Amino acid sequence: MTIETLDDLRNALLQNESPNKQNFTNNYYPFWEMSEGQHAVVRFLPDANETNPLGFVLEKRMHNLIINGEKKSVPCMTMYDEECPICKVSKAFYDKGDEDRGKSYWRKRQYLTQAIVVEDPLPPDEQTKENYEGKVCCLALGFQLYNIVKDAIKTGELDTIPYMFNNGVDFIIKKSKQGKYSTYALGSKFMRNNRDLTDEEVALAQRDMIDLSTLLPRKPTVESLQESLTASLNATAATMEDTPTASYEAEDVNVAETAGYQESDDGGEGGDEADAILAEIRNRKTKA
Ligand SMILES: [Zn+2]
Repeated sequence: MTIETLDDLRNALLQNESPNKQNFTNNYYPFWEMSEGQHAVVRFLPDANETNPLGFVLEKRMHNLIINGEKKSVPCMTMYDEECPICKVSKAFYDKGDEDRGKSYWRKRQYLTQAIVVEDPLPPDEQTKENYEGKVCCLALGFQLYNIVKDAIKTGELDTIPYMFNNGVDFIIKKSKQGKYSTYALGSKFMRNNRDLTDEEVALAQRDMIDLSTLLPRKPTVESLQESLTASLNATAATMEDTPTASYEAEDVNVAETAGYQESDDGGEGGDEADAILAEIRNRKTKA
């Protein structure tokens, strides 16, 4: 489920490694591997890049395309302040009343941050005999966890900046069962007590904190993005009768989060543009 997303994330990162960047591909804390009922405790850390306007979190937007039955994760061009052809296609489907395909083409957001893992319920690695406790890791938060963090800050539940070294607040990531799915929305929260990092934790943080922007994928060329999109659209169109979009979405652990995806849509224009885009899609299919 979410592991697929991490694989996508790893692949995206692997493709974007450059000699100047450290290799952080294996440095994501896979908190989603915990069992329902378990929890981890983490302490968020600031972005080493002090120009980050959000201080400790960076939004990553990706599209999942299904090409030849396989999921391919590609960057959303809005991350680079450019028009995104895949967002356009998604909106066109929504405007046509096709919510399933609108949703499957919509951008998926993750919130990248980093933290010291204070308590880790995961079993130790077979080789190193260690788990993630006492390490600085990257975290890819989904909509549920990010909302809890954001709301706590916005509503004044916290009286301090949670990721500061002194007088900050640890955060509990709790996985619960909700119906058929796991959720983080029920028990995850900031701890009640503030605390200073220990000298050891401060040294660790200062050594291992990274510039979060190094985690973002490199901007794809418009051509390569368009190529992937066209391949995906043609595949979808070819199997339109029995397209597995719905079940694919249900398998995604972020399904409970998709309700939020539309919020950030800029909305606005519809009708003619939607018709034009869908006509273009049909033409592609005819030509193929
Ligand atoms: Zn996009």
